[in-house]
Amino acid sequence: MFLELFPYLSALLIEEVERQPGRVVFRTRVRAATAVCSCGESSARVHGRYIRRLRDVAAGGLGVVIELRVRRFRCENARCPAVTFAEQIAGLTTPHSRYTPLLRGMLTQIELALAGRAGARVAAAVGISVGRDTLLRMVRAVPEPDIGEVEALGVDDFAFRKGRHYGT
Ligand SMILES: [Zn+2]
Repeated sequence: MFLELFPYLSALLIEEVERQPGRVVFRTRVRAATAVCSCGESSARVHGRYIRRLRDVAAGGLGVVIELRVRRFRCENARCPAVTFAEQIAGLTTPHSRYTPLLRGMLTQIELALAGRAGARVAAAVGISVGRDTLLRMVRAVPEPDIGEVEALGVDDFAFRKGRHYGT
């Protein structure tokens, strides 16, 4: 029943569902024991974990937040420039997004039909609070800047490369 409503969460284990004022939070982690680096190498060596939050379309009039305990793996391919990589979930996460593809698609449609403030008002009416600037960025398909609340304990877009460390 649950996965019929949320088929795109099938790769996740939902460990807890918390009802908060105006929204529901799914606390999840990925079922798979391994993840595949962008170089194609599979790894089971977990290097660290952090929390990532994705907003999803509203359900039952409540905003939905998918809280994902993301693992960072060590790539064991000696020729790969990445030392570590964060797992991504096909159909659900992309490296910088804070919205599920479903919510992003819905908000883009709202913004295309009703630009700016009107779009933000309609989104709020269906249980999604989003700023008009964010809506505008979606339509322009510009990557969202990493500003605003700090939601992750680690960062999945750090460029750790062998011999050159940008992060601390
Ligand atoms: Zn790799």
